[in-house]
Amino acid sequence: KEKTFAMIKPDGLSGNYTDEIKNAILESGFIILREMTVRLDEDTAGKFYAEHSSRSFFPALVKYMTSGPVLVMVLEKVNAVADWRALIGPTDAQKAKVTHPHSIRAMCGQDLEKNCVHGSDSPQSAEREISFFFEEFSSG
Ligand code: ATP
Repeated sequence: KEKTFAMIKPDGLSGNYTDEIKNAILESGFIILREMTVRLDEDTAGKFYAEHSSRSFFPALVKYMTSGPVLVMVLEKVNAVADWRALIGPTDAQKAKVTHPHSIRAMCGQDLEKNCVHGSDSPQSAEREISFFFEEFSSG
């Protein structure tokens, strides 16, 4: 089995989508190995999204990600990384509503920024992101 990292972003929590999202996760055959609600500060949000630090949307992204608590999770199933990305749908929730209407971002997201969930984009990212939040999974 494979692990991936999932996050319900501030708009997902404040919009009360947590139960709907967790149901979709469990119905798709994932096991939720760990979960934790955290409030990100600017430093932590910036480090998590360090790969985007030079992008024009970075300051807005940090502001969004620190606007309220997030729920971080470790999910496990066969092919977890790709299957979780498929379940959440495209980055832009507006487009997701048209092209992937049953995706989580279509159901719970608002636009290109406020897209309610995150998912690791590769097994390498999954490892980094899981150990970023869950000490027990860090090898170092
Ligand atoms: P995530 O990494 O959160 O799962 P993703 O891989 O689909 O999302 P990325 O390109 O890695 O998308 O962007 C990270 C996050 O930054 C997006 O989920 C979104 O919240 C925000 N974002 C991305 N592009 C833009 C943009 N052009 N304008 C505003 N916000 C953006």
